[in-house]
Amino acid sequence: MYSIIHKCVENVVVGVESTAHTLSFGLVEMNGTAHPSKSSLFRPEEGGIHPREAADHHSEVAAGLLSSLVNEYKLNSKNISAIAFSQGPGLGPCLRVGATVARAMSIDWQVPLVGVNHCVAHIEIGRSQTGCIDPVLLYVSGGNTQVIARAGDRYQVIGETLDIGIGNMLDKFARMQGIPFPGGPKIESLAKEWKENHPNANLEEISLPYSVQGMDLNFSGILNAAQTRINEGHDLGAVCWSVQEHAFAACVEVAERALAHTGKKELLLGGGVACNERLRQMSHVMCEERECKAFWPEKKFCVDNGTMIAELGRRMIQSELSTEINNSSINPSLRTDHTTIIWD
Ligand code: AMP
Ligand code: MG
Repeated sequence: MYSIIHKCVENVVVGVESTAHTLSFGLVEMNGTAHPSKSSLFRPEEGGIHPREAADHHSEVAAGLLSSLVNEYKLNSKNISAIAFSQGPGLGPCLRVGATVARAMSIDWQVPLVGVNHCVAHIEIGRSQTGCIDPVLLYVSGGNTQVIARAGDRYQVIGETLDIGIGNMLDKFARMQGIPFPGGPKIESLAKEWKENHPNANLEEISLPYSVQGMDLNFSGILNAAQTRINEGHDLGAVCWSVQEHAFAACVEVAERALAHTGKKELLLGGGVACNERLRQMSHVMCEERECKAFWPEKKFCVDNGTMIAELGRRMIQSELSTEINNSSINPSLRTDHTTIIWD
């Protein structure tokens, strides 16, 4: 008979992520070792993500996910140092589920609670996983698209989408073609296959708006025009390819300007859309041309995950920051630059 060998951890921060479609628990040891999260993604049967339906999903899966993390790592009040949770930004009903679970864990295990900024967590997991030090972050996810750089004690937003997030645009376009959520990975594979079969393809034949305005971006114009190209009879793979080329070029252009303005030499990709190989390739080429370096963490740390919340919690706890239960209300509209950064 064999018995299960449990992973032995000491002094860990547990992170709870629940800003939108994903409920996830992860952990990071105080020495910075990050462990994969236990996650569940809400996939609506039809239509977009309804905040209350996503919150119901999170409530239903919370106990099972947490038990599996606790059992695998033999977590108890002795080896847990703190509980971190996403305090914002995000969908109110979803954030409330994560915050409630985190408060209960903190009280039950009698360890400090620390509310963290979800967007800043994407930066800190990227820095800890890739070793980059002072990057410009291109944060491309479902709900957010921002170009961020540290200035003094803040991560400042240098440019951002003025309408929908890039991932939201990809998911909406996919849904209009009958592709279920999340649509980004399928768009990537359709685009790749089409380009391999049409190496001499010309973007002008499937033109779309180019969406840079100063340092800001927008994606609804691309979404509407892409559907028009489909209605005109263009191949789905061709339109997917054109959508990616236009939307990613716009993001990479703003990121390049941010590198030029700040003088920074590192570009870090974060958020679910940073899983995309074509975006990674375009970022790498741009950085090589300007003698900078592009970084991205493993895919499991690009999408929303509890481990990134634990990593920012670790940084905050080590800086002696924690959150009283009385101050632990969620903040759905928390901004990236509202959080003071007191660590290196
Ligand atoms: P997040 O909100 O950071 O968890 O990221 C989720 C978003 O990432 C969704 O909009 C997905 O469609 C998108 N996404 C995930 N993988 C890919 C990919 N390979 N290419 C493009 N978008 C992706
Ligand atoms: Mg995110």
